Amino acid sequence: MSDETPVSAAGPHVAGAGDPGLAAEPSRDARRVAELLRAAERAVVLTGAGVSVPSGIPDFRSPGSGLWENVDPIEVAHIDAWRRDPDRFWSFYGQRFAMLIDKRPNDAHLALAELERRGLLRGVITQNIDRLHRLAGTRRLVEVHGSIEWSVCLECRGRFSLERVVGLLAAGDGAPECPACLAPLKPDVVLFGELLPERALAEAQELAREADLMLCVGSSLEVYPVAGLPELTLAGGGRIAIVTKSSTPYDGAAVARLNGDVADELQAVVAALDA
Ligand code: ZN
Repeated sequence: MSDETPVSAAGPHVAGAGDPGLAAEPSRDARRVAELLRAAERAVVLTGAGVSVPSGIPDFRSPGSGLWENVDPIEVAHIDAWRRDPDRFWSFYGQRFAMLIDKRPNDAHLALAELERRGLLRGVITQNIDRLHRLAGTRRLVEVHGSIEWSVCLECRGRFSLERVVGLLAAGDGAPECPACLAPLKPDVVLFGELLPERALAEAQELAREADLMLCVGSSLEVYPVAGLPELTLAGGGRIAIVTKSSTPYDGAAVARLNGDVADELQAVVAALDA
């Protein structure tokens, strides 16, 4: 796939935008990660916000990211804010939906889907709610913070697609409502102050515990409980490889470390497998 036009067109870093004929040789570290993947039998990937940055999605927890500049996301995206004043909650959260709905997977998402297609990965665990792994073709995806794909009515448990909710948001002002109950919908994502969905977390922990290799991509691995997943892999005798620009608490334990742009690095890993 390295000589095809990248599907990602949205981000500031469009990997492969130069002359594909001039693509650099995969680095030693990329070849090392490729070897680890080949040798592993139960490899899993854990991704954080960094994997979606090349798609033009800023990490909204980091200051100066542009979105919600004058509000505290922990306050406006809190479950208490939704309970107290759903209209006000959606006036902010609706902007987040509008920002995310047109975003496309980048070469990092596509590389991970390709690794799974080749049978080199058991699945992807993600903290991201942007559904880009699914759009890229990842089949086994564990979304531990939920996804914008659905919004739910807590009265009747009805589920409403992103497209439908965006339509409701555009048609009225305030919170989109369940047409049957007239109750305000809640995005099916884990808001601040909410617990992680039990089933997704249990599946993530099982994958981590059984993994002989965990590839951590685009996460500073600092937010618990997801930050505890590499620990489970290490405790089970598995190995950790890290692809991210920032430092992480697991850097010392990692057997391989890729520090460049996540899309470039993961494409280089795929290229190394083909070499
Ligand atoms: Zn309902």
